[in-house]
Amino acid sequence: MKECYFCKGTTEVKKIDVDFRWEGKLLVIKDVPVEVCTQCGEKYYSAEISKKIDELAQSSRKPEKVLEVPVLEFSR
Ligand SMILES: [Zn+2]
Repeated sequence: MKECYFCKGTTEVKKIDVDFRWEGKLLVIKDVPVEVCTQCGEKYYSAEISKKIDELAQSSRKPEKVLEVPVLEFSR
């Protein structure tokens, strides 16, 4: 547990789904243990977690499941 950089609130470890783009593809990694501020919701990824996420993104591991993601164009 540590202090939030933004609001000085306390953080706690929560398992969340992390979504991010990797080489133009949207990836979701489930149940990532991340420190989350209990006040403002800011997320903190430890170096270890970021490394693991990078490894997963680069691995050719078969995804547990593939979701269809709706993409809408704003100016239509
Ligand atoms: Zn905060």
